[in-house]
Amino acid sequence: MDRRIQIGGRRYRPFPGFLVLAVLFLVLFAGGFVVVKAGVGKAGGKPQTEKLTAGQPYVTIQTPDVQHQGPSVGSQDTHDQPQSPSVGAQHPNIRPQGTFGGSRYVVTRSSLVRLLGGNGKEKIVLLTFDDAPRGESTRKILDVLERHRAPALFFVNGTYAEKRPELLREIARRGHGIGNHTWSHARLTRIPCEQVREEIVRLNDFVERETGIRPAFFRPPYGKMSPCAYSVLEEEGMVLLQWTWSSEDWRRKSAKSIVQSVVSHVHPGATLLFHDLSLTARALPEILEELERQGYRFVLPDEPLPEDFQGVP
Ligand SMILES: [Zn+2]
Repeated sequence: MDRRIQIGGRRYRPFPGFLVLAVLFLVLFAGGFVVVKAGVGKAGGKPQTEKLTAGQPYVTIQTPDVQHQGPSVGSQDTHDQPQSPSVGAQHPNIRPQGTFGGSRYVVTRSSLVRLLGGNGKEKIVLLTFDDAPRGESTRKILDVLERHRAPALFFVNGTYAEKRPELLREIARRGHGIGNHTWSHARLTRIPCEQVREEIVRLNDFVERETGIRPAFFRPPYGKMSPCAYSVLEEEGMVLLQWTWSSEDWRRKSAKSIVQSVVSHVHPGATLLFHDLSLTARALPEILEELERQGYRFVLPDEPLPEDFQGVP
């Protein structure tokens, strides 16, 4: 049987069906591959040091907060993502600042530490420790920080601080900042507004009573803000501070893996998230040594901006 077809006076042998399918498959496969490659180029690779431009919302892969055994932590959904720090009604004129090499720096809405007028490439890093003071490792962490003259911001919970007020005072006395991480590590999206206020204000009152300093920074448990939490922050004149990289120390099995996670993801202006844990205390010396070797310095924004400050970096 002659299977050729006739087009414009010439006769052609039609492509066998499998050949058509194979070509189709190749085209689709190659197309998909290009799309995947493009995605990696945009979202993966080394976005953290290359995308720093002033004012640009800064998005990194953020990871869940620790799932610790503290009170009122009922669920196991550790895979929640913190909401974007740039979402919500953050007070526009409050950006606690500090000084670095004679220049002022601020914490931006996206949790980056930036020099005012800088190019975003200054090797400054903000160290933060959540769920403090748990007690078993707090002093070890304080000792390591002291050896490196590295100030840090400790996000405390009332349930821990109430049991160990002397540790809370010691954190402040040794030159570190104290932030508010709620009284009982509550998930703010699941409790009524009045309770959100209580979670935040009660802890502020306690910290102020014990240390003389009212916390300026707030970090919600699991990174989860609620509309009510935003208004309480405004009432309290506080600043939301999430993080740009989580060490995920709470789920790691070795100090080495904490070191590797941080060292391979640090970038100028990073806010690093750790927890007040023994394994973290063991990893910390190597992390600080390596970051110092790379030329990083540790900063602590602890000065309020002037009332008339208008620039929002
Ligand atoms: Zn926490």
